[in-house]
Amino acid sequence: MIKIPNKISITGLLLYSAVAGAQTAPSPNAAFDGLKITLCGTSSPLPAPGRAQACVAVETPDHLYIVDAGSGSAATAQLSGIPLDKMRGILLTHYHSDHISDIGDFNLNSWIAGRPAPLQIIGPEGVDRIVEGLNITYELDRGYRVAHHGAELLSPELGVLQSRTIGEDVIVDEGGLRITAFEVSHPPIEPAYGYRLDYGGRSVVISGDSLVTDKIVAISDGADVVLHDAMALQLVQGAESMSRAAGNTRIATVLHDIQDYHATTEDLVRLTAEAEIGQLALYHLVPAPRNAMAIAAFNGDLPEGSLITEDGMVISLPANSTEITVD
Ligand SMILES: [Zn+2]
Ligand SMILES: [Zn+2]
Repeated sequence: MIKIPNKISITGLLLYSAVAGAQTAPSPNAAFDGLKITLCGTSSPLPAPGRAQACVAVETPDHLYIVDAGSGSAATAQLSGIPLDKMRGILLTHYHSDHISDIGDFNLNSWIAGRPAPLQIIGPEGVDRIVEGLNITYELDRGYRVAHHGAELLSPELGVLQSRTIGEDVIVDEGGLRITAFEVSHPPIEPAYGYRLDYGGRSVVISGDSLVTDKIVAISDGADVVLHDAMALQLVQGAESMSRAAGNTRIATVLHDIQDYHATTEDLVRLTAEAEIGQLALYHLVPAPRNAMAIAAFNGDLPEGSLITEDGMVISLPANSTEITVD
């Protein structure tokens, strides 16, 4: 029950409702047993209205892990009603800015929501440097928050991030949830990882940024859902040509360079041909489609039913069943 103050302006009331709602909204499937996957960011560094950068939340009844935390994703996660007090950690695939820039906001939001342990930032070699830098960057902010709200509400040690460096392995195996990190191909970054999460006989593979590799094909085989990054090559090539024709060679060069380290829809056709996948879902869309023509460019020759994700989309996998629902 939200108590509304006696004296509040209309604008204040609207803001109050929005903020309180976002902070207190229960998970829509609070009693849901299975894997619940929420897209809290579906775009890439190319800006797209209504889409945050890469972020996927995966929930079980007892766990909440976030895979990557791109710009804008913490707000999208909060507005989607994800129970941030349950957050165990953020699994980072690699350290491009569009995968890490909202870590600070996730830390603050989950601290305020009542997360009972420090937030773990989990990733390949280098994660300790990211965490050390963020803890320094937010040191003053943590001090202000504790001074203002009190150490009883915001325990100081829970505001400090912890790092965990992982290798290619099973990195979590607790309470029925198993998380496996596997190496992907996103040169020149080595290593970059993807993650497979298994719970209740259901599974989701999240590629991070990668080409389609034999390893991804193998780990995707038999998975219920595969969330894979995707690039509409002809759109990027078109934008490169237009930039070059307009004399913007810097942007044209960048648009050329990015063409060799994301999966094209053609590559994804190979993935669906070689691996048995319940639902292929494209995210980290390069560029994020804004109209039917652009969506058609992503669909290409992909099998019917392939999903182009949007922010706030929820994919539910009830435990011990074969059901897949998309809301
Ligand atoms: Zn990347
Ligand atoms: Zn990326």
